[in-house]
This record gives sequence, C-alpha cells and structure tokens, in this order.
Amino acid sequence: MDTQSKSLTRSPLIDAFGRQITYLRLSVTDRCDLRCHYCMDEQPEFLPKKDLLSYEELAAICDSFIARGVSKIRITGGEPLVRRDVITLIEALGQRLGKSALSEIALTTNGTLLERYADQLAAAGVKRINVSLDTLDEVMFRRLTRNGRLADVLRGIDAARKAGLHVKINAVALKGENEHQIADLMSWAHGRKMDMSLIEVMPVGEVETRRSDQFLSLAIVRSRLEEQFTLQDIPLDTGGPSRYVKVAETGGRLGFISPLSHNFCASCNRVRVTCTGTLFMCLGKENSVDLRAALRNGGAAALNAQLDAAMQDKPERHDFDVNAGPAVSRSMARTGG
Ligand code: SAM
Ligand code: SF4
Repeated sequence: MDTQSKSLTRSPLIDAFGRQITYLRLSVTDRCDLRCHYCMDEQPEFLPKKDLLSYEELAAICDSFIARGVSKIRITGGEPLVRRDVITLIEALGQRLGKSALSEIALTTNGTLLERYADQLAAAGVKRINVSLDTLDEVMFRRLTRNGRLADVLRGIDAARKAGLHVKINAVALKGENEHQIADLMSWAHGRKMDMSLIEVMPVGEVETRRSDQFLSLAIVRSRLEEQFTLQDIPLDTGGPSRYVKVAETGGRLGFISPLSHNFCASCNRVRVTCTGTLFMCLGKENSVDLRAALRNGGAAALNAQLDAAMQDKPERHDFDVNAGPAVSRSMARTGG
C-alpha cells in the first residue's frame, strides 16, 4: 500500500462527472501589492481583514481535503506573500508532507517579496513555485502592474533559484501589450533553466478594459513562435491545464494554458478555497459551498459533508466568452488564481 492509500481515511473526492479532485488551490488573501490591469481595479475593494480565516482554520480545511486524497496544495491569492506570517501556514502544511496524502505544496506569487521569503519557503518543504511575470520591459511592467518594480521580481527569482526552488514563469498573453515580447521572455526563462507557461486572459471580474481588447489567442502566439522556433509537442502531464512543447533551440519547455481556445475541463482535477473559506468548484462559475460556517459550527464532520455536497455541484465546464460580460463577478485574485 502506498503512503496515499494508507493515509486516506475517507472516500476520495469524485465529482458527478467522474473526475477525481486531488488538487486544492488555497487563496490566503485577496490583497495584493500590485494592481495588474487584467486582474483588478486600481482601487479594489478588499475583504475586511476580520473576515479572513485564521491559519489554524485554513489548515483544518486543508486537512479535510487531504483526508479525502488531495495530494497537492497551491498557496495563492491575491498575493500570498503579503499576508503577515504566511510562512506559519506553509510550515504547518509542510509538517503533513510524507505523513499524509499530501505530497506537494506549491506557491504562485508575483515575486515582489520572494527575496525575503525564498529560503523559508524552501525550508518549509516547498519545491516548486510559479512566478507571474508578463514582461521584462521595466516601463511596461510598471504600466501593467500599475507601479510595480521589475527589479524586485528579478531579485526574487534569483533568490528563489539560489534557495533551490524550481521556478516556472507564468505570463498572460496580452493583445497590444506583451505580444511581441513573448519570444524574448521565453528565451530569457529557458536560458535560466526555468520552464514557462503562457495563459489566455479570462473574463473573470470587472476590469476597466474590455476583455476582447486584451484577449490574444494562444493559437496565434504559437504560430508566431513557430516562425522562429521548433516546437515539439511533448506528452508531459502535470495534472494541470498546460499543454507542453519542448523548444528545440532553447531546450526548455513551454506550456499553453488556453481555457478559451482549447477547453480542458474534462480533465479538471482541482477546486479553489478563498481566504474566507468559500469553496468554488469552478473558476468560471458561481457554484460554491461555505466551509467557514461548516468548520465553525460543525467541525470535521460538517466540513466533510460540505465536500460531498460540493462534488455533486461541480460544473461540467466553464463557458468563457471574451465578447460577453464577465463569466463571474469575482476577480481571479478573490477566487485564487
Ligand atoms: N499574485 C499572484 C500572482 O500574480 O502570481 C497569485 C495570484 S494571481 C490572481 C494568479 C495568476 O492569475 C497570475 O499568473 C495572473 O497573471 C493570473 N491572472 C489574473 N487575472 C487573470 C485573468 N483575468 N485571466 C488570466 N489570468 C489571470
Ligand atoms: Fe496581484 Fe497577481 Fe492580480 Fe497581479 S495577477 S494584481 S500580482 S493578484
């Protein structure tokens, strides 16, 4: 019997379409030190701090998922590293590695605070992080993030690599913005032995710009890259939505996350929990269950019942359409991107 089966005390989480949920993305805050144009407004309304679950509560929620076979937890946000003492939670989850179904703790970050936290993350048991970086042009970075400093992120990436973390770069492809810098960004990442994934902009949350003005199909990006590079499809299955190619000239891997031009919902293995304990079963749908009330009023048994209810209510697929309004009103930062 492997570790996972040994520690699985309850039935696995299988939804009404037969998909097993093994991956939890946990948003520890909706706040952020940047204001990326495609993600949030310049002056977003953040949740009151008093509504946030404590780290003990978030860990208890994680435990209820781990007991049902969730093996990977990604800490995200908002910007996860802006929540005070977030390392406490990551260390606590790190204690579960190898002693439960949990086999991986990952993190998605904008990188601005990585220089400060890289060593502690590695010591806590984090092995892989995704750093979101859409451009290497300082001026464009400042514009896209509404005043972020590229140098902070670059120092953070260096610190993470030095700490032994495996870094993947995630970049949103944006029409009229970074679209002609993608080849350079990829060459830069691959030159530093970092994989990269490209992401299509998704119509979640209200932003100032029309989504159709931001959206750039990755099918177009791919064909442009193919004018310069040899892209070889590889059957790398990371359990995620990325379809990977190996780039012959750089030796690196490039992932395409194309929720609009290539729907991947049939193999969805994930759900998301917000910092206030709402479990969203799909990034692009409103279906949710309240884990905070279950945890506070009924404890582990009530949490477990909510997970069962959630499995019956996980939508089959999203139906993103950049030409329609937002699929959901909450931003990616609120849900946990
Ligand atoms: N702040 C962290 C970061 O930026 O990596 C974690 C949270 S952020 C919401 C997670 C990812 O979602 C980032 O890679 C970001 O670029 C992406 N994202 C945000 N809004 C998006 C949107 N509307 N469409 C596609 N990706 C989006
Ligand atoms: Fe912040 Fe990440 Fe959203 Fe940018 S994408 S505003 S870094 S949460």
